[in-house]
Amino acid sequence: MIYPWLQPALDHWHQQLADGRQPQAMIIHGNYGVGKTALSHAIVAELLCRKPNPEPCGQCQSCRIFASGQHPDLMSVVADNNIIKVASIRSLVNFFTATAHSAPHKVALIKQADYMNTAAANSLLKVLEEPPAGSLLILQTDRIHHLLPTIRSRCVQLKLQINHCQFPMITDWLQQRHPQLSPQELDRLLVLSPGLPLQVDALIEDDVAPQLEAHLSQLHEYLTNQQSLVTVSQYLEQHVNAQQWPLLQAIILHWLKVKYGDNETQIVWPHALYRWLLSQSSASTIMLKMCQLMSSIMVNFNNQTKTRLLIESMLVQIKQTGTLQNQ
Ligand SMILES: [Zn+2]
Repeated sequence: MIYPWLQPALDHWHQQLADGRQPQAMIIHGNYGVGKTALSHAIVAELLCRKPNPEPCGQCQSCRIFASGQHPDLMSVVADNNIIKVASIRSLVNFFTATAHSAPHKVALIKQADYMNTAAANSLLKVLEEPPAGSLLILQTDRIHHLLPTIRSRCVQLKLQINHCQFPMITDWLQQRHPQLSPQELDRLLVLSPGLPLQVDALIEDDVAPQLEAHLSQLHEYLTNQQSLVTVSQYLEQHVNAQQWPLLQAIILHWLKVKYGDNETQIVWPHALYRWLLSQSSASTIMLKMCQLMSSIMVNFNNQTKTRLLIESMLVQIKQTGTLQNQ
């Protein structure tokens, strides 16, 4: 079963097949957590099946081999240390040259295709110039604009994006998967990754909400002079990981939206820090500054020394902004 929000994209794919417009190369793109891998998997399963209808039959020899995880007519290329080198693309060329074993099509999947280096991308271009008949090459990426324009123009592009009208469907899906969560708890997590159901699902699995609460409390204690700069910056450096900075930023943005947005935005992250911010005459300036400074921390996260400095600088600057404006 495909995730319900991916059904329109899969229907679109089926329509292309029905119209005799099966592409030989396709880019599936969209944000992390939207379901690119799941959609690729569904398309691959259908193409490898000997009797698709249009879903894979699950019974034929080819389907059974695919289910075992090792299909000779499917090749997956993945990044190694955030890079896809030319050797991987060359082996893909060899793969396409060989005849199919048991499936009606040969399918290759390049995950995180934007990690191809220049040599790999150029090598792939040669494949795209003369794509082998009866085959499909799927490129998956979160960052389509990092692909060469010449690669983009030679592929059919399928963008996965969740519309507002699909939000209730996603809420239902998450609620069914996690019946222990109250609707309020679910709303809190949906605010953090709107339109990215699989990411929200991972946040629930990892029980991230209490950790974020704790981080906000540390910030609050620093701003209300209950904790020192050194203690809180050390805490943030050690406890807020690369995935959590954007989530903290999303909470601050949510607060800004509650303060200035329409009446439809209800607060789902009530916190002592938010109440403290509201008591400041410069609440919005501080919140915007926090968002900006968090962006710098995210960009420099791999540089430990710089991260530490940026965290300290963020703490000093937000406290200073509050103090100055209140004078
Ligand atoms: Zn089958």
